[in-house]
Amino acid sequence: MQAFTYEALPARVVFGADTRHRIGDELARLDCRRALVLTTAAQRQIGENVRSSLGEQCVGLFSEAAMHTPTDITEAAVKVARDLGADSVVAVGGGSTIGLGKAIAFHTDLPQIVVPTTYAGSEATPILGQTENGLKTTQRSLRVLPEVVVYDVDLTLMLPVGISVTSGLNAIAHAVEALYARDANPVISMLAEKGIAALVRALPAICAAPEDREARSDALFGAWACGTCLGAVGMSLHHKLCHTLGGTFNLPHAETHAVLLPHVIAYNRDYAPEALSIVARVLGVSDPAAGMFDFAKRLGAPTQLAALGMKESDIGEAVAIASRAAYWNPGPIDADRINRLLHDAFSGQRPISQPSVSEGGLSTTNEA
Ligand code: NAD
Repeated sequence: MQAFTYEALPARVVFGADTRHRIGDELARLDCRRALVLTTAAQRQIGENVRSSLGEQCVGLFSEAAMHTPTDITEAAVKVARDLGADSVVAVGGGSTIGLGKAIAFHTDLPQIVVPTTYAGSEATPILGQTENGLKTTQRSLRVLPEVVVYDVDLTLMLPVGISVTSGLNAIAHAVEALYARDANPVISMLAEKGIAALVRALPAICAAPEDREARSDALFGAWACGTCLGAVGMSLHHKLCHTLGGTFNLPHAETHAVLLPHVIAYNRDYAPEALSIVARVLGVSDPAAGMFDFAKRLGAPTQLAALGMKESDIGEAVAIASRAAYWNPGPIDADRINRLLHDAFSGQRPISQPSVSEGGLSTTNEA
């Protein structure tokens, strides 16, 4: 028997093609009449299109969302929302834009409709990550969980192949860590397996034909499934390391996930054999770590932290940060092994089995 506790998060998901034209109905359903649309500068045109299709239901467009949700941008956006008398936000974009919507909701409690255009999965979580004075912190609050998620496959057709791949691997990482989470449960594990399988099918097809709608739809479903895993159970060493490398050394989010994932699987392989055998099965390989490395490499994902701008001399500090905080991980947190892991990831070494240390995992929780 596997004893477990499962708590479902509220979610309304509208999934399909052309669904961006249903945002107006979703706003009306929430009794909202004055939406502020959010995008990054790069996606401003999509924001303009959404704004014009909403007509009088939209009071403005704020297009300055940025990676890691800097608090000064949030303050500016909150001021715009207040000045315009907005009663809701519509975030159209990847994790950066969705992060801004969540941060606005945290300060104002405005309802959010989010329209994800990458596979990062933030839309399905009650997690808010923010950066202030170069320091990234995360917190969980139901206040930031979006009221409605509108997935429109058409908005993902133009997502560049490189971002599609790294973002898809970012999603897979949520599901992998969900499978071996301390609070893993059968519902989330089922979703994790389905999410990984969808992305393992979809990503090679997207590389071959970026506008393949079936593959894009599979990937978007995978993103929802994997994001739901991230929102539902605690994350471990992989997310801790990505958070450290992104927050302290400013490495790019999705790419860092892509490089580290095979190495963290190798680190935990002997401590979570059942969970990781699911990953191997989905990949159709016997070793989940080497299999994930080969899969990512075939897709053209980056495989070296060095190529992302990490300095070898920073590895010591990264090891210290990742070993200091107490968080759950199936394998014990061991500075020597983390050091080896980061050196392998730095140089792009194909992961091999690491000698294991004797006891089980550590204490307390870790956030994404
Ligand atoms: P992103 O949102 O920064 O997007 C990357 C770039 O791609 C941006 O310039 C964006 O405008 C562009 N883009 C996005 N969709 C596009 C499309 N369909 N077509 C063309 N261009 C497109 O990247 P991301 O990886 O989605 O998000 C990363 C951020 O999300 C990080 O800050 C990370 O911490 C956060 N995140 C948070 C959670 C959470 O639960 N809180 C989960 C995952 C990621």
